[in-house]
Amino acid sequence: MTGLRALVPFLPVAALAIALPFTGNDYWAVIGTRAAIYWVLVAGLNLVVGFGGQLAIGWVALLTVGAYTASVLVASAAWPIYMALAAAAGLGAVSGVVVGLPALRLRTFYFAMATLGFATIVTQVALAWESVTGGGIGVSGPAFPAPFDTAWGFYALCAVAAALCTWMTVNVGDSRFGRALVAIRDAEVAAEATGISKPALLVTVFLFAGATAGVAGGLFATLQSYITPDAFTFDLSVLFFIAILIGGRGSIIGPLLGTILLTVLPEFAAPLVAWSTFLYAALLGVIVLVMPGGIANLLDFRGRKPLESNRAIVPRPALLGEFLNHTTAEASIRLAGVALGFGAVRAIDGLDLVIRPGEVHGLIGPNGSGKTTTLNVISGFNRPDTGSLRLGAHPLPAGMPQTRARLGIARTFQTPRLIGEASLLENVMIGGTIEGRATFGETLVSLPRHRRDERVLRDAAMLALRTVGLESLAEARADRLQHSELRFMEIARALMLRPAFLLLDEPAAGLSPDEIRRLGELIAAIAARGTGVLLVEHHADLIFDICDHVTVLNLGRELAAGTPADIRAHQEVVSAYLGG
Ligand code: ADP
Ligand code: MG
Repeated sequence: MTGLRALVPFLPVAALAIALPFTGNDYWAVIGTRAAIYWVLVAGLNLVVGFGGQLAIGWVALLTVGAYTASVLVASAAWPIYMALAAAAGLGAVSGVVVGLPALRLRTFYFAMATLGFATIVTQVALAWESVTGGGIGVSGPAFPAPFDTAWGFYALCAVAAALCTWMTVNVGDSRFGRALVAIRDAEVAAEATGISKPALLVTVFLFAGATAGVAGGLFATLQSYITPDAFTFDLSVLFFIAILIGGRGSIIGPLLGTILLTVLPEFAAPLVAWSTFLYAALLGVIVLVMPGGIANLLDFRGRKPLESNRAIVPRPALLGEFLNHTTAEASIRLAGVALGFGAVRAIDGLDLVIRPGEVHGLIGPNGSGKTTTLNVISGFNRPDTGSLRLGAHPLPAGMPQTRARLGIARTFQTPRLIGEASLLENVMIGGTIEGRATFGETLVSLPRHRRDERVLRDAAMLALRTVGLESLAEARADRLQHSELRFMEIARALMLRPAFLLLDEPAAGLSPDEIRRLGELIAAIAARGTGVLLVEHHADLIFDICDHVTVLNLGRELAAGTPADIRAHQEVVSAYLGG
């Protein structure tokens, strides 16, 4: 969904926001304003938590930073409010990266604790730095000039800011950045294999989420008209976080409704306010148990449409020409003397291997013989202990999977790696992430390069799906597909890189004989287009049908190597594996 169509679900909320002033009740102006301000923060945080899956539970710290920055600059330095708000955004962005950086090193709960620690530090600084912040006494919030100096005037300003944040995050959500974030969350290794750089992406998003939280802080200080450190409670942080969880991860309308719900709910249950933390926890419990996908899942009608049964996958190798047109003979991938051990296990033990352009190289051997590890070494997931790894004359950097995509080395996984909640088409589009040209900034405000990227990626992904024969399922959620379909989906995603080399880890596992035959034709056609294929497989027929060379591994060593005919004639191999 691109452009305006993506905004349709937000129309009812927009209508409500526009209707609110007609109540003429100033009390509602305050509640509406508060919901809008919270959403300005949650919208950015949603990219971090809902899309990126990073458990930033102490995000209230950035609201604090923004509130004090704006208040102090206006009160003590007599800055114009708009400049002070810009400064709050700037300092918020920087703080966002500071809070976020641990995410690059720490996993889940440890990162969550780190964000909480930061929140405590910020509150303590606000308390202790009396000369600037007023300590426990506090500081007055900035006031806006007319027409924003009335309750409804300020409401309008905050509502516009909230709408702007919605639009910007919808743009990001429907972009290669949004999909890459979700890929990091649900399929990190697949993300790395497609060249997505997690650090760069997360830092960008932390900058943005920090900036919106900073702005929200400035607006919050105005709404409160006076701020003290205890205005920024842990409850508030929990509210932001839970709004996203009950909204549904990876959604924007869901967390927006979640934010509104959590802001309005206490107003209807005034006697219960003291219990609000408990209520949030109870609400969260109910959501997790009854509808794990959150509000967004309730609104997901597409995901409930029945899929056609008896689906056959019929690839169209003829379409490969649109992806793969390597004209010149390119370099080979060469492994020489590669060895790698996990503790006492010698997973690979001195292996030489050459993968040539335009050829299918089969890699067979019993379970645990080191096939997947070999593929992991080539694609940079495992770092060999000894030996060399080259692409033509250049060494391939060891242990850096995110560098492979740019070198045209694509792969699939023995267990398909996918984003279950995303459509098949979106899953395939992830394969083309590094082809995008628009920057994050251009994407935020939907400039032409962003719209062009989306068009190009979508067309390419559709073509890749037609090539592997899955185009009729383009809009289906990936977690509803059969295992065999996911295998072809992974090939489509790999094709998005127009790979010079394609590494396939047991692509035929779980396929029917017909599907295996068609897969064989597709792989042969890929090689015929000049791509070098490394095929790890158990199905001997497939290997002997389409391989130019075969290497047989045993205990991490080469047991035999040669043409399929050589291997068939190899006494030891035949007796051990081919049941001859
Ligand atoms: P194959 O793909 O041929 O079945 P693998 O390459 O997956 O074999 O495994 C080769 C050997 O290395 C096996 O003994 C396996 O248990 C071991 N191994 C693979 N990955 C790891 C790992 N991450 N940690 C420890 N041992 C591993
Ligand atoms: Mg394996």
